[in-house]
Amino acid sequence: MISLPFETKPDFYLEHNRQGLGMQKFLLDYPFVVKRIIAWALKKEQWVQKYGKPLSKKYLSVARFMGVQHPEKIRLVHCSEKEGIVDDPKIAALLEKFDLDIHRISALALHHGIVMNASLKGNEKILAHELRHVAQYEICGSTEVFLLYYFLEVAHFGYGKGPFEIDAEMNAQIYMQRKKNAKKPNLSPPPN
Ligand SMILES: [Zn+2]
Repeated sequence: MISLPFETKPDFYLEHNRQGLGMQKFLLDYPFVVKRIIAWALKKEQWVQKYGKPLSKKYLSVARFMGVQHPEKIRLVHCSEKEGIVDDPKIAALLEKFDLDIHRISALALHHGIVMNASLKGNEKILAHELRHVAQYEICGSTEVFLLYYFLEVAHFGYGKGPFEIDAEMNAQIYMQRKKNAKKPNLSPPPN
């Protein structure tokens, strides 16, 4: 998941503490909240698998570079900003609990499914970032396990500051840097 830069608000469990609900209440609420998000994500994942397109040859190699084991399983859907990536208001409200503003979500990985705003078509940095999330899903072994950890990370560190997001962003930057370097002309003098 990636969103445009925005000011981060207090995270979910700090907000729980502020309301006097405490860590125990947070941990009690957490599985029920995330379970509903997971149910939505599994449906959306199926939808992407059904209507998405396989990656082009070029993007298959980007996926391999990002550590994806099964790039051939990936399907990609570009949706208009009007359609939105999160199409269920109840899920949008749950994501807001984690300070995730759905209007700012511009791309989302759902195991081997990726949804991106059509306006970002061809944006390799964002695609590379999402492909790294795909690799993370593969390591977790299932959508459920990934999302259970992912939202715990968002609740604990705040969006964009946890290990999964840092790993995705760092690897996307490494990919872009490598691409940039590969394009540079070799200016060293010819060997004598
Ligand atoms: Zn992300």
